[in-house]
Formats: sequence, structure tokens, C-alpha cells
Amino acid sequence: MLRLPDNIKRLYKKAQKHCVPIEALFELTHRCNLRCIHCYIDSEKKRELSTNGVMRALDVLSQNGTITIIFSGGEALLRPDIFDILKYAKKTGFISTLFTNGTLIDKSNVKRLIDTGVAAFEISVYSDIEKDHDEFTQVKGSFQAATGAVKLLKAGGADVTIKTVWNKRNYHRADSFLRLASDLGVELRGAPYLSVTNDGGAGHLNLRCSKEELVQFYTQVYERRKDRGNEMRKELEKKKYDYDSLKDKRICGACVMKLKLDPYGDVYPCVAFGEKLGNIIHDDFTAFWRENEFAKKFRALRVTDIKKCVGCDDYAFCRTCPADSLRECGDMLAPTDEKCIVAKAQREAFYKIIL
Ligand code: SF4
Ligand code: SF4
Repeated sequence: MLRLPDNIKRLYKKAQKHCVPIEALFELTHRCNLRCIHCYIDSEKKRELSTNGVMRALDVLSQNGTITIIFSGGEALLRPDIFDILKYAKKTGFISTLFTNGTLIDKSNVKRLIDTGVAAFEISVYSDIEKDHDEFTQVKGSFQAATGAVKLLKAGGADVTIKTVWNKRNYHRADSFLRLASDLGVELRGAPYLSVTNDGGAGHLNLRCSKEELVQFYTQVYERRKDRGNEMRKELEKKKYDYDSLKDKRICGACVMKLKLDPYGDVYPCVAFGEKLGNIIHDDFTAFWRENEFAKKFRALRVTDIKKCVGCDDYAFCRTCPADSLRECGDMLAPTDEKCIVAKAQREAFYKIIL
């Protein structure tokens, strides 16, 4: 996972205060060679910027303060110009991460890919069992390709992380999955959240874990981290709900210090919000970033505006997301049941194992 130097972390704080889009996620294409069952992208949307268009978009981001950029898709490596784009990003001064399913990385291109100057690679893996991963992506051979890519990138000296979505099919395998990551020499990151897709699809939400399954999952996680108990107890104290400090805190970084670009250059508040702010090629970025009505309204909100959460005992374990709330409940200030269930289960396991 990308580790930022301290001076960049300080810049993040300033960006948050002054609403500078320091972090961008750029979906270079919505095309993909896998069919992951939880995917929120509408792969039928095929409009894409040309190579020159992408480079122009990168110039605009750079002029407006963006420093870190995540290139994603669909599958970004399906673009034949991906190497030129990544090299241009490096030349422009961005710290880049590439999100990929790994299936298009092989011996013939791995060195070329690392040499573009990408700072970190994040590869999606959905199980430590080949058959389960391939069922999740709905493409046979994708597990071997993804783990093969991890090995090749590691051997080439790249910074690689694998990431997953914890769900009904893999939550009970946290231990063996973490062992696979450790055998590959990489960190495994994941979260147990499944969102409604961009076109309203909810068929995959039956893969969400129940509260009991989540307690089992977090029990495995905390058992492995017991040695960090003291540190974690101190962290917990700092994260508890404190109305006085939270009344000045923005809900999250969406259209504050982060944004998302889709393959056509349309700009959104973040990866999850569907409210378009403007187009980076056809509109005046500085004007719409400052003046867009949705952005202004969202930036004015504070954590304490989410009334249901005021004083919540599970707050320290919660990752509520206003965009998910908007899609699922029609109200960005109405937390989804999913977030409450995950937080409650995590707290229960924490109290059982760590406290
Ligand atoms: S657990 Fe639910 S009520 Fe508590 S902070 Fe999270 S979203 Fe709010
Ligand atoms: S919490 Fe949700 S709305 Fe906020 S930045 Fe993250 S994904 Fe976007």
C-alpha cells in the first residue's frame, strides 16, 4: 500500500481545510475482462478520452493541486496507451497507484509496467482458494493470473498490496487468506462492505455477512493482532464520539480533498457519489470545483449533522458513507443498516478479544 511521506500527509490536512483536490481516482476505462459479481461499474459505458484527452485531464489536475492519483477501471490495462499514460503521470509529478485485477500482467510486460514509475500496485483477490476466486470473478484462470502478477511485481521490486471484499463466501477464511498474503510477501487489505451498484443493482447484497458471521470474522482478525492490544486501546479512546470536536469535522473527503474522474472526463465528488460536478475537458474546472451547488452543500455538512450517529457507542468502529446512504436510503444523512451492523460486530469482537 502506498505510504506517503510526512510532508505529503501535512499537505493532505491543508487540502482538507482549503478544499484542494489533492487526491484523484481516474477510471481510465469501464471495460473489463472479468465479471466480478459485486462490481459497481456499468461496463456497457464505452465512451473514453483519447490519450491526449487523458493527458490534458492530468495537466488540469496538476494545475489544481492534485498530488496523488489512483488509476483504475474497469481494467485500466485494457487501454493500449496505459504505459504512456502512467509515464506521463510520473513526468507531471504525480504519485500514482494502479488498481488492477492483475490478469494482464505477465513476464513480457512487467518490467515495462514497473519502469513507468507507478509508486504502488493494488491487486484484487477474492479468496485464497482458486475455485472460489474464479467463481467470484466469473472467469476461470483469474486467480492464477492475479497471484502470478503479484509474484512478478514483487520479484521486480514493486510495492504491491492485495485487497479483497470480505463476504459470506470468504469471511471464515481470514486466517488462511492472510497466510496466502504473507507467503506472497504482501499486505492483505479488505473491508466487509458491499454497495448498491451505479445502476441500482442489489442482487449481490445477499453476500453481505450477517452480524454473527462478522463477529466470527473480527474475532479472527483481533486474535492475530492481540500483541498490539495496548496501542489499539489507546487508538479507541481517540476515536470515540465527541460532539464538541465532531461538530467542526466534515463527514468525509468527497469533493473536499478528493474527486473521481470517469473515462470521459466527467468529475464526481468521489468514487461512490453519482452527482456530476462538471467535465474536466469541456468545462472550467476551477469554476465548477468551487461553485457546484452539490459540492457547496456537501462541504457545509459536519459529522454531527448525521443525527442517528450522535453519541453512538459504535462510532469508533464505524465507516459510514454518505454516498452509500444516498443510494440505499435516499438520504445521505441516514446511515445504512450495513454500516451499523458491521460497527456493532467489530465492537463486540474487540471487547471480547482486546479489552
Ligand atoms: S454504527 Fe450506525 S449509528 Fe453508530 S455511528 Fe455507525 S452508522 Fe452511526
Ligand atoms: S465515505 Fe463514501 S462518500 Fe465519502 S469519500 Fe468515501 S466513498 Fe465517498
